[in-house]
Order: sequence, then structure tokens, then C-alpha cells
Amino acid sequence: MDKTALFSLSYGVFFLSTKNGEKINACITNTAIQAASSPDRIAISCINTNITCMMIKMSKVFSLSILDSTCTYDLIERFGMHSARDTDKFMGLNLPVDKNGAPYLTEQACAVLTCRVVESIDLGSHTLFIAEIDDAFKVSKNPPLTYADYHAKVKPKPAAPAAGRKITGWKCKICGYYYEGENLPADFICPLCGHPASDFEPVYAE
Ligand code: FE
Repeated sequence: MDKTALFSLSYGVFFLSTKNGEKINACITNTAIQAASSPDRIAISCINTNITCMMIKMSKVFSLSILDSTCTYDLIERFGMHSARDTDKFMGLNLPVDKNGAPYLTEQACAVLTCRVVESIDLGSHTLFIAEIDDAFKVSKNPPLTYADYHAKVKPKPAAPAAGRKITGWKCKICGYYYEGENLPADFICPLCGHPASDFEPVYAE
């Protein structure tokens, strides 16, 4: 099977947030679709090891800010390339919250959906959440960012590995998966999150 055929699927890019107890968290995802229109339902798929995913399982609510064409890599990096385990993703930001207390974006996004989980299905690496949309509003007139445009226009090209330093492995910037070995095959696909080799960064010997 040629798994790169799956890269031909088209997606949007989203800021996915939740509030559980007193804790808020958010990540970046490309897996959201409108799954039904009567009632209005959305389906999202989240990596199980992701803290936002664990929190949604408990809170049963999430907010989805649909990123627009003005989205910067800084936003993607802040929320998509780090874990709440080792960084405060919201430092210096004061985001508004929806009726469930989940933060949402009023910049770099064109619309916001407030969602309540009605069903979740564990798919192995990911959990599929099916949710009812309780509220929806637009925040800009900019066109939504497509996943293809994110790769072509927003994501920086990978930097060449530092000269003179020994590479011992490669780490997936999306999910943290570690590949042991100096050479990451160009057609490698992360077994955990399905992202390509371009989303890996080198890990150097101490
Ligand atoms: Fe990964």
C-alpha cells in the first residue's frame, strides 16, 4: 500500500481547545468535518496521547476555531508543536472563552464552533469524537486555511541538519514519536500521527 496516497486527502486546519475543571488546553488539528446537518454535528479525530484529547474525554466539550489565510507559523508552533506537559501554551495570551469556558481565537481564524461530545470511538492511535454544535459564529471574512496551503505557504521549509553534529535519531514535531537512527527515510510516515518525514526534526548526540 502506498500510504502517501492518503496525503491527497484535503483538509482544513483548526485550533482545537477545551476546558476541564480549571484547566484549559488547545492544540492544532487538521481532522474536522461536518458529519451531519440535522442535527448539526461535527466529527474530529485526536491523537490519544495528546493532552487536549485526554481532557475532551473528561470534559465532553470543545471549541474549534477554523484557522484562516492570515494564520502564522508562530500560532501553529505555539499550539501544535509543543505539549502542555512542558510549556504554558497560553502565556501572554488573553483569549475569550465560549459558554463552556473553552478559549477561542478572534484573530487568524474565520469562524468558531462550540461543540458538545455526544459519542466517542477509540480508533487505536486516535479517538473519534462526534459532537453536536451548540453555537457557531464568524470572526473574519478571510478564507479558511486549507491543509495544502498550510504546507505550501505557512510551514517553513525544514532546515538542513547542523554541520559537524552527530544525529542519533529523529523526533516527530507533531506527536513526539522518536525514530532511532541517523538517516530518516524521505518517505517515512510517522506510525503514531501519520505525518511525513518533513515534520521530523533531528536529535543530536550530547
Ligand atoms: Fe507523529
